[in-house]
Amino acid sequence: MRIDSCRKCGIELEKNKKCDVCRKVNQFFCHRCGFTTDEQIHTECSIQRTNYSIQNAAVV
Ligand SMILES: [Zn+2]
Ligand SMILES: [Zn+2]
Repeated sequence: MRIDSCRKCGIELEKNKKCDVCRKVNQFFCHRCGFTTDEQIHTECSIQRTNYSIQNAAVV
């Protein structure tokens, strides 16, 4: 995945958050101006996570 640069500062954005399912970065921030991108929602991952918590709930 390509890392965007900040619209204001033109510097490369840093990794801020990772998807807890696929471990890909899904949010970036600019450490100069504090700008944060929208968190990308992976549809597949949110489905997987829902299934996982349902399975866990069933076991307990
Ligand atoms: Zn994901
Ligand atoms: Zn910036």
